[in-house]
Amino acid sequence: MNISFFTLGCKLNYAETSTLREQFEKAGHSIVEFGEPTDAVIINTCTVTENADAECRKIIRRTLRTSPNAFVGVTGCYAQLQPEEIASIEGVDAVFGSKEKFSIPQLFKEFHKLETPQIHVSDLEEVEFVESSSSDNDSRNRAFLKLQDGCNYNCSFCTIPLARGGSRSMKFTDIMPRINGLIKAGFREIVLSGINLGDYTAPTSEKFIDVLRLINSCSPEARFRISSIEPNLLTPEIIDLVASSDVIVPHFHIPLQSGSPDILKKMRRRYKAGYYSSLITEIRSKIPDCCIGVDIIVGFPGETDTHFEETFNFLYELPISYLHVFTYSERENTPAAEYMPKVLPVVRKERTNRLRVLSAKKKNEFYRSQIGTVHTIIPEFYYHETKLWIAWTENYVRVEFSAPPSLLQVPMSIRLEEIQGEVMAGTLLENQQTVTQNTPEYYSILF
Ligand code: SF4
Repeated sequence: MNISFFTLGCKLNYAETSTLREQFEKAGHSIVEFGEPTDAVIINTCTVTENADAECRKIIRRTLRTSPNAFVGVTGCYAQLQPEEIASIEGVDAVFGSKEKFSIPQLFKEFHKLETPQIHVSDLEEVEFVESSSSDNDSRNRAFLKLQDGCNYNCSFCTIPLARGGSRSMKFTDIMPRINGLIKAGFREIVLSGINLGDYTAPTSEKFIDVLRLINSCSPEARFRISSIEPNLLTPEIIDLVASSDVIVPHFHIPLQSGSPDILKKMRRRYKAGYYSSLITEIRSKIPDCCIGVDIIVGFPGETDTHFEETFNFLYELPISYLHVFTYSERENTPAAEYMPKVLPVVRKERTNRLRVLSAKKKNEFYRSQIGTVHTIIPEFYYHETKLWIAWTENYVRVEFSAPPSLLQVPMSIRLEEIQGEVMAGTLLENQQTVTQNTPEYYSILF
C-alpha cells in the first residue's frame, strides 16, 4: 500500500519518522511524498508544538482532500498524552502511543478506513530504546543520530517524561556500526541527539563521556556535534575532550531556562545560576572560539519584572553566542500549570521580544569575533539564484561563499570575512583541494 508521513516537532521526531519509514518499506509498503495521493498517512506529533490539536486537524484535512479514503494514524508525544482527544478528531482511524509507535506495521497489515477509531496506547513503563537517525532537512551530509530517549528528570514545566517515558540509551556496542553506516551513506557531520543526551547510560553502564571517547579514538571520517546537554551533566572531562578533539566540534547548546535563582528553583532545574555562569567561563577559557547556545523560557508563572531583569542581566553579561527563546505556555498535567500568578500573555510576548533582540546582539558579537579566522566547512547546499554555497563551520557559524555548483561536499578550509545579515561571508582558502565533481581529481577521491 502507499503510505505517507508528516512530522511535527523536534529533530528526534524526524529521526524516528525515518525509522518508521524504513519499517514500512521492509513490510512491503511504498512511501509517497506527503500531499501525493496515498492509502494511509502517519502523523508523528509533538506536545511542545503550540496548538498541536489544530495542526493535526489541518494535516488530516489536507490528506483527505487528495485521498478521501486514506487511513489516518496519529502517533508521537501528543498521541501518548491525549489519545481520546485525538481519536475524536474527524478522520482519525487509529492513535498509537510512544511504545506502539514502532509496531504500527505489525498492528495493521492493511490500512483501510475504520468505522470507529482504535486507540493503541499503553503506559510507558519499560519502554525500549529504538534506534533512529535521519538527515537534516534533506541535507546530504548532515545526519541526526538518536543515542538516548526519554528523561528521568522532573522539571515542573515539561511533559516530555510523561510523553516519552524514562531515560534509555542505545547499546554501546551498536554505536560505531551505526555511525559507520551513516558515514558509508555519505554523511560527513553527525549530530549526536537525545532528549537528555548527557544522561546517556548504556545497558552495560557506559556514560556519555565514554561515547565521546569511543568516537574520538576511532578517528571516523566525519565530524560530530553534541545537540544539547543539561548543564549539570556537562562535566570538565567532556569540555576537555571537546577542547582537544579533532572530530567533536566546539559547539555546546546548554539549556539555562532562567537566570533567576527563584524561578530556577520553581522550575526544578538541577543547578544554580552561579554554577551555570562558571561553566560558561570554563568553556570560554578552554575553547575560546566555542559557540555556546542557550535555551530560555520566559513568562514562567511567578516571573516578576525583577526576576526577568535578573535573567536579562545574567544573559547580558555571559559570553554566549545565541539564545533560543521559548514563551512559556501551560501544559496539562505539569505542576507548573497550577502555579500562580500567571504572567499576562502580553508581558510574556514583550519579554520574549526583548530576549530575541539580545540573542541577535550576542550572535552578532560572536560572528564579529570570528572575522578573519579560518574554519572547516562541509559545503551543504548550492543556491542557483545567488550562485552561493552555504555551510556551517565547526563552531556553528552559518557561512556563504562563492564556488562552482559542482564543488564536492567534503571538508574544506574557509576564512570568515564579514557579517552579511544573518550569515557570514567567507572565502575558500587557496592551495587546498577544492575538488569539483566529474573531474579526474573527483574520481581519484571516489575510487
Ligand atoms: S531535563 Fe527537564 S526539560 Fe529536559 S526533557 Fe527532562 S524534564 Fe524536560
